[in-house]
Amino acid sequence: MLPVMKFNDVVCSFSPGSNQAEQCAVCLYDFRDHEEIRRLTNCGHIFHRACVDRWMDHDQITCPLCRTAFVPDELMEVFHEKLCAASVSAIPEFGGEFSVINNFL
Ligand SMILES: [Zn+2]
Ligand SMILES: [Zn+2]
Repeated sequence: MLPVMKFNDVVCSFSPGSNQAEQCAVCLYDFRDHEEIRRLTNCGHIFHRACVDRWMDHDQITCPLCRTAFVPDELMEVFHEKLCAASVSAIPEFGGEFSVINNFL
């Protein structure tokens, strides 16, 4: 799973004066201190937790902002194999393909 953290925790870890966006590119609202956000492991962009979850619900596996894949290149082949396997033997109680994505984050 992608790490979930509070926005103010992330802000503390930013280097001073960095130009990090303080707005979620999915919903275009500013982040608030108490909100849960996810930081994408590949590109470091941050989004609301709910926004990323909804984004992935639509089978999107790239960053909404820069289109970097959530899944590292070396895992993409395995990922697609698992995705195919999952769509053949759908597991409704786990949300099918979405559960496969979860296994990689
Ligand atoms: Zn958002
Ligand atoms: Zn990104």
